[in-house]
Amino acid sequence: MTPILPGATLGMLGSGQLGRMFAIAARRLGYRVEVFSPDRDTPAGQVADVEWVHPYDDFKAVDQFARGVDVVTLEFENIDVACVERIEQQAPVRPGALTLRTAQHRSREKTALQKMGLSTAPFRLIRSAQELKVGLAEFGEGILKTAAFGYDGKGQQRLHGNEDAGQVWSDFATDEAVLEGFVDFRCEFSVIGVRGANGDFRAYAPILNTHHNHILDVSVSPAAEIPTAVGERAIEMTRTVMTQLDTIGVLCVEFFLTQDQEPIINEIAPRPHNSGHLTIDAHVSCQFEQQVRAICGLPLGSVAQRQPAAMANLLGDVWPEGGLPNWVAALAQPRVKLHLYGKQEARVGRKMGHLTALGDSAAAAVALATSAREMLQAGGGTT
Ligand code: AMP
Repeated sequence: MTPILPGATLGMLGSGQLGRMFAIAARRLGYRVEVFSPDRDTPAGQVADVEWVHPYDDFKAVDQFARGVDVVTLEFENIDVACVERIEQQAPVRPGALTLRTAQHRSREKTALQKMGLSTAPFRLIRSAQELKVGLAEFGEGILKTAAFGYDGKGQQRLHGNEDAGQVWSDFATDEAVLEGFVDFRCEFSVIGVRGANGDFRAYAPILNTHHNHILDVSVSPAAEIPTAVGERAIEMTRTVMTQLDTIGVLCVEFFLTQDQEPIINEIAPRPHNSGHLTIDAHVSCQFEQQVRAICGLPLGSVAQRQPAAMANLLGDVWPEGGLPNWVAALAQPRVKLHLYGKQEARVGRKMGHLTALGDSAAAAVALATSAREMLQAGGGTT
C-alpha cells in the first residue's frame, strides 16, 4: 500500500475525546483532520481543521465528507455499518466493516471470538423471558447486557438468579440481549494492539484496570498483577483477533483474569481505549499516534514504556457545584499531566478528562494519580 503521507487529510467518524486525542496526534504529524458527527463544538471538532455537523444517515453530507479525505477512521464502533459501507466506496475506512460489524453486537462478537478458539465469559443470546429463565437456571448468577449499543456499563443489569425472569425481561425493554455468566475475576486488564496495513502487529504490555460504577476509574502500567506468561498469551490473543478480523488500526481487548490465572475476553473495542490514555505521557508512541500510523500505512511506532504510569479518569463528579476543580493544586505536582476534553457541561458520570501520573514504580504512580485527583476536590476553584 502506498503510504498516506503527512499533508494528507484524515477523516474521523465521531467527535468525542478519542477523536480529539487522535486529531492532536495527527496534526502533530502534519496531517489535516476533518471530523464528522451530529454535534457542534465537540471535543474533536475544537481541534480539527473541519467539523462536519450532520447525522450519520445524511448520505449527501457523508458522500461529500468522504470525497474530501484520504482515509477514514472512527472513534466508536456503534456507527451504522450502512454509513461505513457508503464511505468505503469513496475512501478506505480503517478498521473496516468486518471489524465493526463483529464488535457492534455482543453475541456476534463472542461467537466470533469462540470460533477463533479464544475464551470468553459463558453467554447466551436472549430473545424472550423464557430464554432468560433458562439462562439464569444455567448460570445461577449473571449479567444481562443489551446486545448492541452498550458502553460503560450502560444497558447492563446484574442478576443473582432468583429474579422473576418475566419482570426483568419486560423492564429491560429490548428485543435482543446477552446473558453472561458472572465471572469471579481476580482483576481486569486490557491489551491494546496496533496492526498496520501490511499485517505488522505490535501491542502495549497489559494495563491493569479498576472500575467504579462500571466506568473505568484507574489504569496502571506496568501491571505486576498479571503474570508474564498470562500477559504474553493475552497479547497473542489480541494478535489473533486483529489478524482474523483483518483490523487495520488500533484495537483494545478487555480481559478478566480468572481465579485460576486464565485470561478470558470480556469485550473488544476496535479503536484506542480509555485504558491506553497513559501511553500519551508514558510511552514512546501513544495509541493515537499508532492509529494515525496504522491507517496511513506508515511504519508502526515503538510501544516501549519510558516510565511507570497511572491514569485516573476525571468524571463530571469531580466538579464542585457551580465551580471548578482545583486545577492549580493538582498541577503543582510536577509529575502529573492534565488532559481535558473541552466539554462545557460537567455531568455526573461524564468523562471530562484524565490525569496521568508518572512514578518510579507503578504503585507510586497510582498513589500520585489518585491523590492529585483528590486535590482537585480540595476547593479553591472558582468559575
Ligand atoms: P462491559 O461494559 O461489558 O465492559 O462491562 C463493564 C464492567 O462490568 C466490566 O469492566 C466488569 O467490571 C463488569 N462485568 C461485565 N461483565 C461481567 C461478567 N460477565 N462477570 C463479572 N463482571 C462483569
